[in-house]
Amino acid sequence: MKNRSFPSTIDQTLIEKGDSMRESMAKVKRLVVKIGTSSLIYPNGKVNLSGIDELAYVLTDLHNRGLEVILVTSGAIGVGLNKLQLLERPQKIPEQQAVAAVGQTELMTIYTQRFEAYSQKTAQVLLTRDIVEFPKSRNNVVNTLNQLLAMDILPIINENDTVAVDELDHLTKFGDNDQLSAIVTELVAADLLIMLSDINGFYSDDPSKNSQAILYSHVSKITDELLKEAGGTSSAFGTGGMRSKLKAAQRVLDTSSKMVLANGKRPKIIFDILAGKEIGTLFEEMEENDND
Ligand code: ADP
Repeated sequence: MKNRSFPSTIDQTLIEKGDSMRESMAKVKRLVVKIGTSSLIYPNGKVNLSGIDELAYVLTDLHNRGLEVILVTSGAIGVGLNKLQLLERPQKIPEQQAVAAVGQTELMTIYTQRFEAYSQKTAQVLLTRDIVEFPKSRNNVVNTLNQLLAMDILPIINENDTVAVDELDHLTKFGDNDQLSAIVTELVAADLLIMLSDINGFYSDDPSKNSQAILYSHVSKITDELLKEAGGTSSAFGTGGMRSKLKAAQRVLDTSSKMVLANGKRPKIIFDILAGKEIGTLFEEMEENDND
């Protein structure tokens, strides 16, 4: 399957410039990695221990190389369902919050064990959107994250599902962890967000429905045309899906950072991404062409 850059009308010099952008990966110092439920939980509902172990190994190794690393993780409800031996996600919000509360501690136990195996200290940070919107609280979040990084501790962030319910006059929900990871990237001024999903990157159409879909290697601008290609949301709750990843990419581009969307099946892919290999979709603004 051939890769291409978008906008596709740009001239060859810009495409080449886009490709050579992967060289900037070598300069990444502060990194946010977001992992989705599909990379943490097997389709049968059980926990993907080898995936989590590989993620802990990769992130610890990057930290040992001198990078500052933050993990944004989904999966609390998935792990909670497994722990409580429930076959289906409950319908009522308090029930979902209870399952998430069970799953969050279980998920952190698994992460702590796996990171411990590589001698990496971790911390749990649970956020709600109102905190990030309120300047004083936002400052506290930034200070905490910076302090953790300065202490060589790897923050593991998730939404605080017990608190985060949308109310008309009080916005507490990030929407989904795609937005949360983009907001964290902005908060800590990270150089790169790597978003690990169940798909190789962003395609010209949903590959599960269209086998002719083409993988974009580089996107410099989120256009209405691209949003249409991303389809709708992936869940009945109106969260996730490719559209949400593009919205997150837009936020990252707005703050002059960059994002790579790639497949989280094998977290070692992060090494290749940082080595500048053309993997997944890079969302990064084009630098102005000197000849313009
Ligand atoms: P995750 O839970 O791993 O974050 P999501 O389900 O939220 O993943 O989003 C990824 C899904 O988006 C893919 O599995 C794919 O079916 C769907 N999708 C829709 N449109 C596209 C597109 N244009 N390119 C890639 N994936 C798409």
